[in-house]
Amino acid sequence: MAIINVFWHEGMLKHETGRGVFDSGMDPGFLDVLENHPENSDRVKNMVSILKRGPISPFVSWHQGRPALISELLSFHTQGYINELVEADHKNQTKIICSGTFLNPGSWDAALLAAGTTLSAMKHILDGHGKLSYALVRPPGHHAQPTQADGYCFLNNAGLAVQLALDYGLNKVAVIDIDVHYGNGTAEGFYRSDRVLTVSLHMNHGSWGTSHPQNGTVDELGEDKGFGYNLNIPLPNGSGDRGYEYAMDELVVPAVEMFGPDMMVLVVGQDSSAFDPNGRQCLTMEGYRKIGHIVRKMANKHSNGQLLIVQEGGYHVTYSAYCLHATLEGVLTLPAPLLSDPIAYYPEDESFTVKAVESIKKYQRDFVPFLK
Ligand SMILES: [Zn+2]
Repeated sequence: MAIINVFWHEGMLKHETGRGVFDSGMDPGFLDVLENHPENSDRVKNMVSILKRGPISPFVSWHQGRPALISELLSFHTQGYINELVEADHKNQTKIICSGTFLNPGSWDAALLAAGTTLSAMKHILDGHGKLSYALVRPPGHHAQPTQADGYCFLNNAGLAVQLALDYGLNKVAVIDIDVHYGNGTAEGFYRSDRVLTVSLHMNHGSWGTSHPQNGTVDELGEDKGFGYNLNIPLPNGSGDRGYEYAMDELVVPAVEMFGPDMMVLVVGQDSSAFDPNGRQCLTMEGYRKIGHIVRKMANKHSNGQLLIVQEGGYHVTYSAYCLHATLEGVLTLPAPLLSDPIAYYPEDESFTVKAVESIKKYQRDFVPFLK
């Protein structure tokens, strides 16, 4: 029976993001009820509890996470950037690092735990102790660039793990990012490398300011040796389960096939779900289950079954946990769903997505050397 090794540390709950109007931290004065920042500890508490007490629990083995050392962070981030964060943490007060991204007392320790826990999850695979690892971490990481925090992220957890695999001697790593936002930080970290294929499926949100200058468009392909090894797949709003499956089959699977990685990393955000306050992509549990299954099949074919899964966004406090459960069911290749979907009632129309995928495919065939 396949097992997923889950790496977790409860110290990550101590990152406080406050209350306000959605993620703004703002109290306009005329609302009686403010809400928790979407990247709050409740969402992750439910991810922990569904894996502990949900029907998938017999397939899960738990491992204690640990903080990263500052020296470990320098494989992806610059010393200057890390110094800025350490200094901000020493001030012991709320600091707005960039829009929606708050560093409070406890936040830096949580960020170090998220990074170290993801490194441990990758090392577990590299040391041959298991093939499937899941880093259940917050704050998230995929927007964090080598010199820049962005979008609730301080340290690029997945990027650090990818670099660890390369430093360990692996030749090629493929990263598939299905968080609803562009994995700009991970892309930026490996933008000039032909050893890391970064593929991101996301909503077409474009740049959102100085912390996120990338557009996530198809023409951001990488540079120098890395040209062609960053594949952006911006999908129309409402793409849904069938649209995502189509994009995976038509764009992701063939690219990974041509690339031939010896490690797979699935960067997962449940903010691509139909009920997320931060996205409009309309995946349900069924779509997540399918994606998990497709990625596992790719890992079996190319990387000897070795797959690291890294947690990113996902802001619906209950449904995110269900979608995580479904993703891991798919990764485990279980014959039938263990858990039914409590709220999947969104209508689906994949026709716009099929058109978009066909046009992206044509673009990639024309401009990406290794896909020709
Ligand atoms: Zn996201």
